[in-house]
Amino acid sequence: MSEDKDLAKKLFGKIKLKNTGGYVVDIAEAISAFQNVDSVSRLFCKNCGTLREIDMGEALEISAFNDIKFSRGDRGYFESDGCEFCLKRPSAVNYEIVHLQ
Ligand SMILES: [Zn+2]
Repeated sequence: MSEDKDLAKKLFGKIKLKNTGGYVVDIAEAISAFQNVDSVSRLFCKNCGTLREIDMGEALEISAFNDIKFSRGDRGYFESDGCEFCLKRPSAVNYEIVHLQ
């Protein structure tokens, strides 16, 4: 029993489920040091809870198509209400950037 619980905690420990059914990001995780040297920000999907790093090209693409201001070194992360993992139609996905002080 405890092994299953440990595994579940390992897999899902960073993800918290909101009452609304959407996911909320773990802020500490969202702004932690990048694993990939090309990463400039992160993208969090509120629909499935996926948090992944994005490079400058993707950050600029998301920004351009969603009227978002983003500069390298900005302290913050992007949020979307769908992504390639939960297979929401890309054209129907809304993005926003969350700036942190
Ligand atoms: Zn998703």
